[in-house]
Amino acid sequence: MTQAQNGKTFRNYIGGQWLDASNGAATPNLNPANTQRTLGTFPSATRADAQNAIQAAHDAFAAWSRTPMPKRGEILHRAANWMDARLDEIGEALTREEGKTFAEARGEVARGVSILRYFAGQCMEPTGDVYPSASASTLLFAERVPLGVVGLITPWNFPAAIPAWKMAPALAYGNTVVFKPAEITPLTAWYIVSAFEQAGLPPGVLNLVVGRGSQAGQELVENPKVKAISFTGSNEVGTRIAATVAQRGGKTQLELGGKNPIVILNDADIARAVELTVQGAMLSTGQKCTATSRAIVVRELAKDYGEALAARVKQLRVGDGMQSDVYMGPLVSADAEKTVLEYIAVGKNEGARLVTGGEKLRGDEYDSGFFVAPTVFDKVTSDMRIAQEEIFGPVVGVIEAKDIDDAITLANHTRFGLSASVVTRDLNLALRFMREIEAGIVHVNSMTAGAEPQVPFGGFKDSSSGTREQGKAAREFFTQWKTV
Ligand code: NAD
Repeated sequence: MTQAQNGKTFRNYIGGQWLDASNGAATPNLNPANTQRTLGTFPSATRADAQNAIQAAHDAFAAWSRTPMPKRGEILHRAANWMDARLDEIGEALTREEGKTFAEARGEVARGVSILRYFAGQCMEPTGDVYPSASASTLLFAERVPLGVVGLITPWNFPAAIPAWKMAPALAYGNTVVFKPAEITPLTAWYIVSAFEQAGLPPGVLNLVVGRGSQAGQELVENPKVKAISFTGSNEVGTRIAATVAQRGGKTQLELGGKNPIVILNDADIARAVELTVQGAMLSTGQKCTATSRAIVVRELAKDYGEALAARVKQLRVGDGMQSDVYMGPLVSADAEKTVLEYIAVGKNEGARLVTGGEKLRGDEYDSGFFVAPTVFDKVTSDMRIAQEEIFGPVVGVIEAKDIDDAITLANHTRFGLSASVVTRDLNLALRFMREIEAGIVHVNSMTAGAEPQVPFGGFKDSSSGTREQGKAAREFFTQWKTV
């Protein structure tokens, strides 16, 4: 696939047609493991392109919203099957444009398939409730109906799963969609939209605009024909979008950053705690909203855990994610690499101790990509910037706690509340952690990352705003009640 696509030109998908950007602007899609390899050229959609896409979605809404739900479900099933038959191909595209390992990328595409199948199944579920009425001659019911045109704005770090978990419920519940993926991962987006095209989705129901947030994205945010925006990305962008959409009476759902803790209590199995920390912090190069970025360990275990963690992290093989022995790929872009290296410098200046990593990797294998060594700091205190701000890279800070009370207080000492994990063999301590931790997703003896399509996904505090994504909770956002 990849070599063949080197010189290929990709387009926006508007009203069922593949179109160049209206001003002809296009950008090469770079492989972060080796920027000399490109994955084709993608349009830089303008505001006018986004307006055309919104109009196409607007025009398609009446027919799509009247299409029987089971028929919509059949299209979702066919799109899932199309993707399922191409797991390797799409997984490879994802690795080459985003950098995560092929095993993770393929797993993410498979998760996208499961999400489509889950919402295809939801198309056979009841769409409302019948109520008793005070009047003998009244049939009183309330039905969930679609919103209209919805805008989906997504980040680069899960370019298959996040679009799938927004698009599947949006379409299943009868909305039409304009999808604006992150401009640096458009190839995976192209595959997902192609899956729906091949599945027979009518023209205009799903539209793709590839381009910068400040252009195509901003048009979606400001255009009154777009009734709702489902956004996943940074807090900075998300909160600005929510303010703009609120001013025009639209609806938003925001999934934002995290600063997720793994808490290691004094009865924990140290080897397991280390493995879960490494998986949570270093898989996907730490670029998950649910990545582990703080390891909070009770004092009795701190020394043994710290030594074992450093030893394990030093063994990790870093390289091009297409190589089967690689554990961790590159960061996604030059900007991401710069930010991570800046945070490493901040950590050192704040007085945290660099245990391992902390530098850009050099040498033939690394010089054309964005590789930073997996990094561990200890002697981190909770008020440091590296313990408070989202780094979004392969950096974990170890914080010592006096006991479980202190550990939970430290874990909650952040503006974020997306996910959290506890490592313990004591069921009572696990239950206490579950009750007291301020996080939307809680793991016991598993890493901070990981979710399944049938359960609600989202965070507390500054990590989310609006109703939850995935599972039955997704219906809240993509429908409104009509009482009859
Ligand atoms: P980002 O905020 O820079 O970009 C996200 C999307 O918004 C991109 O498509 C971008 O083009 C678009 N955008 C930017 N400016 C815009 C504007 N003015 N109007 C409309 N759209 C605009 O985020 P990113 O760097 O792509 O992703 C990383 C962030 O995403 C991290 O903070 C991470 O924690 C977060 N994230 C959260 C979750 C979650 O579920 N909570 C999941 C994954 C990622």
